[in-house]
Amino acid sequence: MSVEHSDIDVLVSEVGPRDGLQSITAIMPTAAKIRWIDALAAAGLREIEVGSFVPAKVLPQLADTAEIVAHARGKPGLTVAALVPNARGAEAAIAAGAHKITLPVSVSETHSLRNVKRTHQQMLDEARAIVALLRQVPAAQRPKFEGGLSTAFGCTLEGPVPEQRVVALAEALLAAGCDEVGLADTSGYANPTQVKRLTQAVWRAVGRQYLSGIHLHNTRGQGLANVVAALDVGLTTVDASLAGLGGCPFAPGASGNIVTEDLVFLLEAMGLRTGIDIEGLVAARSLLAEALPGEPLYGFIAAAGLPKGFQPASPPRGGS
Ligand code: ZN
Repeated sequence: MSVEHSDIDVLVSEVGPRDGLQSITAIMPTAAKIRWIDALAAAGLREIEVGSFVPAKVLPQLADTAEIVAHARGKPGLTVAALVPNARGAEAAIAAGAHKITLPVSVSETHSLRNVKRTHQQMLDEARAIVALLRQVPAAQRPKFEGGLSTAFGCTLEGPVPEQRVVALAEALLAAGCDEVGLADTSGYANPTQVKRLTQAVWRAVGRQYLSGIHLHNTRGQGLANVVAALDVGLTTVDASLAGLGGCPFAPGASGNIVTEDLVFLLEAMGLRTGIDIEGLVAARSLLAEALPGEPLYGFIAAAGLPKGFQPASPPRGGS
């Protein structure tokens, strides 16, 4: 983890405004997204993936991403991340002022072709084109560029994904000029043993400093078990979404991303500092309930409450 986060042990990266919203058809108004992001930042989140630079006709829900980035950039200490499907999206993300951009590349080529109609070679060409764009930006303003290894733990179309293929794609993305790679369990197939083994396999090939984060889904209820495995092996950044928003488009009734407030409770209870106020997160759920009526909200901590006498590892925020 970078020096700017020396006061925390684990960086929780909120992806609800992108991953959570992208599978919801009812459009969330921009003002409501801004209130949500403000509440997340006020609760202490340091990194939020606020949207995706895809054409509005493909994903009308995220058509206001540039506006959201512009707003979120004003929050001190917040890293504003955005997804980009290609170099064109990266150009828009750079223009909007995103601090971090992620190009998701499906390790399953079948998934890549189905999702973005591109082969691995074509995606690596996009990565190189993005690096060329980034080199034109003065170093101090240049966003960090992550290659996201989607379907790294298995694919709904191909089934098992060979680990050697994950490792090879990680190497290729770093050779193309990505600053780092991340592992993503897009399908919710991962198990803790696999999380450890795959992380170590990638580290052996590329070096530990180029992989620090994991993106987990709770589709089959293994999300937090996988988090513990990720922490045990030494990963330090974990993606999650408030209330597990968005569910899973392939499995009706199943939750989507791991739930931020449950994740933060797990970490703080284990003595790991996140800098995040759990009660602030739980309170922010009401913004989602209001803005997206009827959308299921997941999570155990919001339902059960914190244990009596619970002491978080992070010092209290704000002094109030
Ligand atoms: Zn996801």
